[in-house]
Amino acid sequence: MPFTPFHFGAGLALRSVTGEWFSFTVFCFAQVLIDLEPGWYMLRGEDEIHRFLHTYLGATLAGLAAAAGKPACEWALRLWNSRLSSAQARWLGVAPRISWTAAALGGLAGGWSHVFLDSFMHADMQPLSPFQAGNTLLFAIHVDTLYLGCAVAGAVGLAIHLWRRR
Ligand SMILES: [Zn+2]
Repeated sequence: MPFTPFHFGAGLALRSVTGEWFSFTVFCFAQVLIDLEPGWYMLRGEDEIHRFLHTYLGATLAGLAAAAGKPACEWALRLWNSRLSSAQARWLGVAPRISWTAAALGGLAGGWSHVFLDSFMHADMQPLSPFQAGNTLLFAIHVDTLYLGCAVAGAVGLAIHLWRRR
């Protein structure tokens, strides 16, 4: 997606149903890692900008790399917590530890959902490469519907998260 944060909606929804088994932070880290690829090729002025990291194979490796970044994600969570007042911490405070299981699930779900969602909208993607050429999902869902779905998933996930904090 041209706007990476839309992917976070799927992560919020997943987190709301999986709880501590899934790291939303590692999920988001995987999104950013994968979208560094089109950013890099855009800066170089190339036309084909969704390449290896936008395949399921590449996204699996990116997801595992994001999981290996668990210590950096935990540091980011501690930093986040340290910036909250005690009133804010009640609603927005997060557990600063991430299990390796949650990191792996967050990273892999992040990588695979990224490729799945992007497959609907990027004509230069070949998600099953090098095993299969082409992209059968391209434009199977309208881009506006895709954005709306991500936004609704994020809103529902956030609502469930806050409701549990009540
Ligand atoms: Zn992307």
